[in-house]
Amino acid sequence: MSHVGRFAPSPTGPLHLGSLTTAVASFLHARQRGGEWLVRIEDIDPPREVAGAAAEILRTLEAFDLHWDREVLYQSTRFDRYRETAEELLASGLAFRCSCSRKDVLDASPGGRYPGTCRARRRHSGATAVRVRVDPGEIIFADALQGPVSRDLGRAEGDYLIYRRDALPAYHLAVVCDDFDQGVDTIVRGIDLLDPTSVHWHLQRTLALPHPRYLHIPVLVNAAGQKLSKQTGAAAVDRQSAAEIAQFVLAYLGLSVPAELKGARPATLWAWALPRWEITELKGVRSINTT
Ligand code: GLU
Repeated sequence: MSHVGRFAPSPTGPLHLGSLTTAVASFLHARQRGGEWLVRIEDIDPPREVAGAAAEILRTLEAFDLHWDREVLYQSTRFDRYRETAEELLASGLAFRCSCSRKDVLDASPGGRYPGTCRARRRHSGATAVRVRVDPGEIIFADALQGPVSRDLGRAEGDYLIYRRDALPAYHLAVVCDDFDQGVDTIVRGIDLLDPTSVHWHLQRTLALPHPRYLHIPVLVNAAGQKLSKQTGAAAVDRQSAAEIAQFVLAYLGLSVPAELKGARPATLWAWALPRWEITELKGVRSINTT
């Protein structure tokens, strides 16, 4: 069986302990299976990006001896692919144009579920977004760690955006196109993306693409139980302390490094971890406390 995994950070800031742990888990998982491990920079949202963050992330991955295969793929080079896919969905009636603002949607539906306002609208004035039509019914998939997942997408979100009114492709569209085009068949990522996976699953089905395997790993949380993220003030990982931090990351993943390897460089720690770590130890685990 082929195995292509990936790490797909958004360049909205430097890697912190949480994102580094996701990188390590996906790396070890792919390498254990003799698979490829790709890095993709998800830079399709300029307003959220931080100048220099992509280069900084790559430098950190290198400092942690997390060497990727192939060239890094930048989503910003792929706008044609995303646009063509959206056009196809529009042409086949599986998607439609929508001129509602975020406020229009919230006014009509306080939970933010899209109420279908533009489904049958033919004329629009001003900018339009593109939404994929969601029919009633559950989206059901099996996550290899979190078990069966079932979500009524129509009730939870309604017709979802694949292009925004500001003409930028949505994450959902880019991630589904790229994982398919890169031959990614195994996705290891944080459990905070479990809900979006139901959207990706729907979009893969709509585009008649194969579904990758999903393994949603726990997120690291701080003492207050909040996911480590830029918003909760997680600090950038310090490349100078890579040996020590790599050891922490392995501990979060359930492996305690023996005394004689303390201070060893990350490559040595990964080599030690490869035959020992079992991702299924994280089965059903939703968060890992870092304190
Ligand atoms: N770019 C997304 C993020 O940084 C992750 C996407 C993914 O792993 O599918 O949250």
